[in-house]
Amino acid sequence: MRESGDRHRANGNGWRQWYNRTGLPADVGRLNRCGRRTRGVERTVLFQPPIPTTYSGLSDDEVATAIVARKQALGGRLVILGHHYQQDEVIQFADFTGDSLKLSQIGARQREAEFIVFCGVHFMAESADILSGDEVSVILPDLSAGCSMADMAELEQLEDAWEFLEHECQATVIPITYVNSAASIKAFCGGHGGACCTSSNARAMLEWALDRGEKVIFLPDQHLGRNTAYAMGIGLDEMVLYDPALASGGLSPQQAGDAKIILWKGHCSVHGLFTAAQCDEIRESDADCKVLVHPECSWEVVQKADLAGSTEFIIQAVGSAAPGSKWAIGTEIHLVNRLAARHPQQSIRSLAGIQCLCTTMYRIDTRHLLWVLDELAAGRIVNRIQVDGETKRQAVIALERMLANVAPHPVAIKSRFAPRPLER
Ligand code: SF4
Repeated sequence: MRESGDRHRANGNGWRQWYNRTGLPADVGRLNRCGRRTRGVERTVLFQPPIPTTYSGLSDDEVATAIVARKQALGGRLVILGHHYQQDEVIQFADFTGDSLKLSQIGARQREAEFIVFCGVHFMAESADILSGDEVSVILPDLSAGCSMADMAELEQLEDAWEFLEHECQATVIPITYVNSAASIKAFCGGHGGACCTSSNARAMLEWALDRGEKVIFLPDQHLGRNTAYAMGIGLDEMVLYDPALASGGLSPQQAGDAKIILWKGHCSVHGLFTAAQCDEIRESDADCKVLVHPECSWEVVQKADLAGSTEFIIQAVGSAAPGSKWAIGTEIHLVNRLAARHPQQSIRSLAGIQCLCTTMYRIDTRHLLWVLDELAAGRIVNRIQVDGETKRQAVIALERMLANVAPHPVAIKSRFAPRPLER
């Protein structure tokens, strides 16, 4: 349902994305992707309409052959980016693979290509659109490929939190948003003296923020914020949790005033599946097995782990390990399986006994990829992700501050061992 006054933009497929700015009364709300009630400014979830049924009639080999042919025909006009959590069937066609940070950097460098097909999730495609030139069209093969964590922070909620903190804290507060957030959140941070961060440079960005203010509000991932701040020597008693579903975030003025780090109550539904008990089970069953986790895992899990770091750090740690090394890895299952296949001389398994799958990333499949390429070959751009000019202008400030604080190599948030440097 669309309200009068919504800002909207048609994408090439005739489907629209829009942002409700009607200022609904506080007691009127709708449900967002997470099923939480929202009010006022609302980010409408994008849904992918069915693609033509001819695609389901193709065999996997026919689809793969057609994708290769389309890539050859489009040549340098096309760049395909693939996130590490993407399924193998798709990642094989990526010109570049990486985590959010690496793909942001690659997206920012694209000046020759006309089309970036982003095999990731929605916020990543938004970042690519913000960082690439206006002449580049960024395309998400399935509009339903969102991120539950990004959906846990909405602009109006952040505006409410900001108003509360400004009113209650006699201190300079710097907003830092994980890059896994909507463009509107990035824009707010850019426009309020803050920045983005990734799991690779969260520490550098927290240090950057604390050089400029006395407090940080860190969103949307409480775990990355808590794990990073704790590793910097900031005590848990100096952090509070701001719950956007509650009045004043559930905090008293004193709690907000005393805290150094205000953590947004958001999390990754995939990394939230790893538990401290799983770490204990690994320790008991195999003392030689190292536990390596992503910092989107809970603080309890990171405390039990041997190593914690970004996706690129995980790849480096395993890639530089000696033959015979054993790993239990706490991150998305496609990456764990790919690492196991790439390093058969090591023992690599998931930390969890269950499949920790990013189901929204998984929506990008080869048939949707072929469909967008077919449309491009026919001169039509479908599923274009476009951030409006004003949001882009503010968000790019936050992203560029992030990109200016990137270490040359991925660094651990926590390490009991120093991984050997990669041979290059
Ligand atoms: S793994 Fe988690 S944070 Fe990453 S895209 Fe999926 S839901 Fe979002």
